[in-house]
Amino acid sequence: MKKQRKIIVGNWKMYPETSERAKEIFAAISRGVRGIKKTEVVICPPSVYLPIFKKSKSKIFSLGAQNVFWEMAGAYTGEVSTKMLSEFGAKFVIVGHSERRRLGETDEAVSKKVSAVIRAGLKAIICIGESERDVNGAYFEFLKNQIKNSLSGLRPADLQKIIIAYEPIWTIGKSYNDAMKPSDIHEMSLYIKKLLSDMYSKEIAFKVPVIYGGSAEVENAFSIMSEGQVDGLLVGHKSLVPEDFIKIVKAADVA
Ligand code: PEP
Repeated sequence: MKKQRKIIVGNWKMYPETSERAKEIFAAISRGVRGIKKTEVVICPPSVYLPIFKKSKSKIFSLGAQNVFWEMAGAYTGEVSTKMLSEFGAKFVIVGHSERRRLGETDEAVSKKVSAVIRAGLKAIICIGESERDVNGAYFEFLKNQIKNSLSGLRPADLQKIIIAYEPIWTIGKSYNDAMKPSDIHEMSLYIKKLLSDMYSKEIAFKVPVIYGGSAEVENAFSIMSEGQVDGLLVGHKSLVPEDFIKIVKAADVA
């Protein structure tokens, strides 16, 4: 079977604080990843910065947004639609990030957003992850429900348009020492594929990229992807540090 291209997603969150700095970071990353062949890089800046980068002709890069609303237009103060994001170059949308779920985003909202993203011809990066690990393994059931609810309403063909980002919440925003061990990441990615396989089919499930997020840094990027056997990484804080992010992308290219 042909090996899938690795995917490295940079989630800039609500950084950097100025568009000038955003341009500098983007330019530095663009220079650094020239020559990358086997990896797709998705940069998800704050949406207001998307138009600045829309003109980038790079075949390595795609742009993504960090959130979206499910309606196309209407009296929804503060929201943006898939069409608006698409006009400004977004090809991907992160949906259900734990930082949004913490602000009250439910599985039901995630499911509506995922459907809207797919209907608009964009790809959804669907974040799931438990907030803690209990000795009895209740997190398995938690993840199962999160996946089932977040994907409810998707037809089998829609699965070509999703990426699952497994992000154990207790590992986010720390250092590589606090990330999950590659062997555990492997176990979780198999578990996710098995769930998808039960919900749809084995053939469909194994084509859905499963990426890992949570303190992925230069030090652990390669081992997470090679030993953890995931299809890529969702990178938060290190996606704003060009020299580190470039090394992470390069690690993906050889993993
Ligand atoms: C994230 O925000 O999705 C993330 C993985 O963050 P960090 O890399 O900073 O842990």
